[in-house]
Amino acid sequence: MAHIHNIDNQLLGAHMEALVAELGESFIFLDNHYNFLYLNPAAENLLRKAGEDLIGKNIWEVIQLEDNPDLFKILMRSIEGEKHIKANFFSTSHQKWLYIEIFKSLSGISVEILDVRRDRFAFEYLKQLPLETVIDNIPQIAFAASIIGTNIYFNKRWVEYTGQEWEGEISKVWKNVIHPDDYQRVVDLWYEHSAKAEPYEAEYRIKKYNGEYRWHLGRSTPIKGSDNIVDFWIGTVTDIHELKEIQEKLKASEHFSQSLIDNSPDIIVIRNYIDNKITYSNKVISRILGYDEKELQQQTSGYLEKYFHPEDLPMIYQFKESIQANKLDDPSENLIIRVKDIQGRWRWLKTKAMIFSRTNSGLVKDILYYFTDITSLKEVELKLKGSIHFTDKVAEASPDLITTLDYPTLRFTYVNRAPIESVFTVNELMGSSINILEGIVEPSDWPRFLDYFNNFQNLSDEDILHLDYRMINAQKDWRWARSRGKVFERDESGKPTKIIIITQDITSSKEIEEAARQNLLMQKLLEKKDEFMSVASHELKTPITTLKASIQILQRLIDTQAEQKVLKLFIVKAHEQINRLISLINDLLDNARIQADKLNLTITQFYINEVLEESIMHSPSSHTITVKNIVHDLVEGDKTRIGQVLTNFITNAIKYSPKSNEIVIDTQKEGDYLKVYVTDFGIGIPKEKIERVFDRFFRVEDTSSEFSGLGLGLYISAEIIKRHHGEVGVMSEEGKGSTFWFKIPMKFNEP
Ligand code: ADP
Repeated sequence: MAHIHNIDNQLLGAHMEALVAELGESFIFLDNHYNFLYLNPAAENLLRKAGEDLIGKNIWEVIQLEDNPDLFKILMRSIEGEKHIKANFFSTSHQKWLYIEIFKSLSGISVEILDVRRDRFAFEYLKQLPLETVIDNIPQIAFAASIIGTNIYFNKRWVEYTGQEWEGEISKVWKNVIHPDDYQRVVDLWYEHSAKAEPYEAEYRIKKYNGEYRWHLGRSTPIKGSDNIVDFWIGTVTDIHELKEIQEKLKASEHFSQSLIDNSPDIIVIRNYIDNKITYSNKVISRILGYDEKELQQQTSGYLEKYFHPEDLPMIYQFKESIQANKLDDPSENLIIRVKDIQGRWRWLKTKAMIFSRTNSGLVKDILYYFTDITSLKEVELKLKGSIHFTDKVAEASPDLITTLDYPTLRFTYVNRAPIESVFTVNELMGSSINILEGIVEPSDWPRFLDYFNNFQNLSDEDILHLDYRMINAQKDWRWARSRGKVFERDESGKPTKIIIITQDITSSKEIEEAARQNLLMQKLLEKKDEFMSVASHELKTPITTLKASIQILQRLIDTQAEQKVLKLFIVKAHEQINRLISLINDLLDNARIQADKLNLTITQFYINEVLEESIMHSPSSHTITVKNIVHDLVEGDKTRIGQVLTNFITNAIKYSPKSNEIVIDTQKEGDYLKVYVTDFGIGIPKEKIERVFDRFFRVEDTSSEFSGLGLGLYISAEIIKRHHGEVGVMSEEGKGSTFWFKIPMKFNEP
C-alpha cells in the first residue's frame, strides 16, 4: 500500500499523481487552508463530485457537516494541529464505515479514505490497525481491558449510547451507568471470573444518554498469550431489552392464564385423541370430582365405562363418532352427562368440546373439554319435577346462592341461604321483588341486570342464561357475581312462570383480569411518553451539537486567520441551528399552552397576501413556490398565528418532498370563509394514516427516521384554526403528494 506521506515533504510529482490515480482508495490533497489541490477518481466517486468542480474549493464548502458529524470531529482535530490522524468514522451519506488517514506536512495535507468493510482491504487492514480501531469498528458497544477493571478502552458506541466519556475513575463510570440494583451482582461476577481467567456473561441494565435504563447482555473473554497468561480481555455489550421485555410479558401472561384457568369454576381438560391420554387438566377437577389430576393423566382405555353413567354412554359414543367423522362443531353443542366422583356419587356436568389442535394432515389431535358442574341445579330441577315441594337439603349444602323467582313478577320464592355475605337475610328476600337489590348491584350494571330477566321469556328448556355483574357485600366491598339462570316451570301455553338462578362469587378471577387490563393501559401510556421524551431530546440535542462544533471551529478558524468566506459559512450554519432550536422550543411551548388552555389569540384585520409573502420569504429557497389565486378581502384573525399555520404547511410541504421542488399555494373564498391550500408533490401519506396526522405527537412511522420532527406542528396548526372556528384538512396520495388546507371565517366570531 502506498503511503503518500512516507515521502513526506516532497511535492506531488507527475509520476506520483499517476500512481495515486491507480489506488483503489480515495486520495485527496489539500493546501494548508484546506482548499482542494488534487483528488483521484476514487475520491471523486466518494464525494460524488467531479474533480474540476472541487479544485480550489474549501473542504468545508463540500462536506455536509450535519450529515457527517464524525468526519467533522476528525477534521477539527486536524485543524487543531494534530499531525497524523488515523480514525474510523461512520458516513451517514454512504451508510458505511470508512477509514481515514490524514497527514499534515509543510507542503499540504494528504487525506486517504477507504472503505474498511471492503473485502479486499478489510482483513489486511484490520490486522495492522491498533486494537482500538478494530474495537471502534464493531457496530455495538465493545471494549478491551488490560486487567478487568483497570486501563479499559471502550469504543465510540459506548459514548454515543451512554453519553458518558470513559474518563476518570473507572469504577465510578461503571457505577454511574449500571442500574444500582444490578451493580453489585455484576461486579461480584466480574471479580469471580477474572480471578479464574474464564469467559463470563451477565445481564444488567445500562443507563442510556437520555436516562432510560435498558437491559443488556455483557460478555467478556480473556485473550491469553503464548505463556497462557491473560494479555487482555475483550468484551461486547448487546442490547437485549426487547427480548427481556417479551420474556417478562410471556411470564406474566402465562401466570395470568394459569390463574384464570385454576380459578375458573369449570373443569378444563385437554385429551389427546390419538393416544387417548389426558394431556392437561386444571385443578378444578380434583375440587369437583375428588380425583388427583396426575392420576387421571395416566388413564388411557376403559375410562368411559369407568367414570361415565351407563345411560349416558350411547350419547357419548355418538359424540366420539362425530369427532371421528370430523363433524364436531366449533364449539360443540352442550352435552349433559353424569360422571362418578371419587366417592361414587354422580355429578351432573355440562360439557362443551372444541378441537384444540390437529395433526399436519388435518386429523383431530387434541380436544379441549369444558365441564361445568350443574349438579345442584340438576338436582333441584329433578326434585322440582317430582314434586312442587322440594327438599332444601341439596341446595342448602351448595356454596352457591340458589334462588327461584316467580315469573314475570320476579319475586323470590326460594332462597337457599343468606346471600352476598348477609346484606339481606333470607326472610327479607323471600317474597320481595328483585328491585330490592337496587343499590346492592353496582348502578352501572343495574340496567343490564334488569334486562337479563327479560330474556327468560323466550328461553328454551335447555338453555342457561349467564350474567356477570358487581354487587356490594356487607363490608361495602364490590364483588363480582356470576348468575346462571334457567326456566323450570311453565304454564299450559309454555310461558315461564318460575325461574331458577344460581349465583357464584367470581371476584378473584375478575380481579386478575382487570389488573392485567389496567397494567397494559398504563404501560402503553408510559411507552408513549418515553417515546416522545426520547424523540424530543434527540431533536434538541442534534442542533446543539452542530452549533457547538460550528462555534469551536469558528474559534479555531479565527486563530488561524482563515478567510472571511469560510468564517461566514460557519456563522450561517450556527444561525440555521439556532433558528431550528427556537422553532422546536416554540412548538414545545405552544403545546404546553394548548394543554393549559392558554393559547390566546390577538384578533386584527389583515390581508392574506401579507401573511403569505412573509411565510414564503422565510422558507428555504430549495423549492419554487407558486401562488395561484389571491383573495383580496380583509380577514379577521390572529395574523401571527395564521402565519404560523401557513409556515408549518409550507415547511412540511418542502420537508416531505425531497425529490420534487415545486409547491403550489391557492386561496379561495368559500361563502363567508377564506380557504387556503398548500400542495406539494412529495412522498404523500399512506391512506390509513391520513386521519391521524393532526394528532398530537403523530408521525408516519415509516418515514419518521428519515425526516426530523416532533409531530407537533400540525397539531398546533389544527388547534389554532379550531380557535378561529375554522377547519383543517388534507388530501393526499402516497408517492404523489399532499394538499393541506385550512379555512377560517372572514369575520372572527367571539365564542
Ligand atoms: P413533524 O414535526 O413530524 O413534521 P407535523 O405535526 O408537522 O410534525 O406532521 C406530522 C406528520 O405528518 C409528519 O411526521 C409526517 O409524517 C406527516 N406529514 C406532514 N406534512 C406532510 C406532507 N406535506 N407530506 C407528507 N407527510 C406529511
